[in-house]
Amino acid sequence: MSDEIKKKILIGLVIGCLISVFVIFKSTLSKDILETNTDNIQMLCGNPKCGYAFELSEKEYAQAGRNQSQNGMPIINASTFQCPKCKLQTANTAIKCKKCSNVFMLNSHDSVDYDKCSKCGTKNSQ
Ligand SMILES: [Zn+2]
Ligand SMILES: [Zn+2]
Repeated sequence: MSDEIKKKILIGLVIGCLISVFVIFKSTLSKDILETNTDNIQMLCGNPKCGYAFELSEKEYAQAGRNQSQNGMPIINASTFQCPKCKLQTANTAIKCKKCSNVFMLNSHDSVDYDKCSKCGTKNSQ
C-alpha cells in the first residue's frame, strides 16, 4: 500500500467520522424539536368537589374528543372532557402557571388577563 492510498483512506475516515457526528448531532437536535412539539395538554376538572389536574398527550386529547362525538348523545359542550378521577364530563383545557405550577382555567370573561394565574397573578401567554 502506497503512502498516497493510505492518506486517501485516512481522509476518507476523517470525513466519515465528521458525517456520522453531524448525523448524530442532527438526529438529537430534531428529537428535541419533536419533543417540544408534543407537549402535553394541561387539563383541569371543573367539578368543585374534585378539581383534579392532569395532562393529556395530543394523541389522547384527539382520542378523547373522538370518543365524545361517537357516543350517539348530543354534545352539550364539546370542549369538556371526562375527568379520570371523578368520571364526570367536567374536565377542561387549562394552563399550568410557569412560575408557581398552579393549574387554572382560562378566564374567558377577561380578554386582557385571561391567562393570569389565579394564585400568583403571573401572565402565562407565550
Ligand atoms: Zn374530577
Ligand atoms: Zn402562578
